[in-house]
Amino acid sequence: MTEIFSIDPLIIKTPYEIEYKHSYGKTTPFFTSLSKGKFMTTRCERCKVTFLPPRADCPYCLGETKWVEISGKGKIHTFSTLHYSGEKFLKDLPFQLVYVELEGVDTVFLTRLKTKHPEKVKVGMKIKLKVSRDLEWRSSDVWAEPDE
Ligand SMILES: [Zn+2]
Repeated sequence: MTEIFSIDPLIIKTPYEIEYKHSYGKTTPFFTSLSKGKFMTTRCERCKVTFLPPRADCPYCLGETKWVEISGKGKIHTFSTLHYSGEKFLKDLPFQLVYVELEGVDTVFLTRLKTKHPEKVKVGMKIKLKVSRDLEWRSSDVWAEPDE
């Protein structure tokens, strides 16, 4: 039901909801491994490249990749401090968005950094990936924290 807040200018409040139903397809093991406290991603044995986010097929040789477990430990490749974000993360502002280099992974992974000391964040800082205990089955279930 639409509520009218003002006539001139006309300001209304209208309920708006969209329900999505989608599949993670061949990358499903990344998400199901999180529920077991593990980080799984894919590797092309032919090209000797490990990807994160996982890729079901290798972008170089187009061959099928295999699932491998990674430690989730690594270091910051680069970062940026966000002062604006989508609604989900407004309560966390400001925070750092980081590209991380992970042990055993050949690509960089983009994620949020949660830290009590944002003034200490720097390139090369050791981090570890963490997983939400309350999974929403989204990439936002994963973030990085300093590995002290
Ligand atoms: Zn390949």
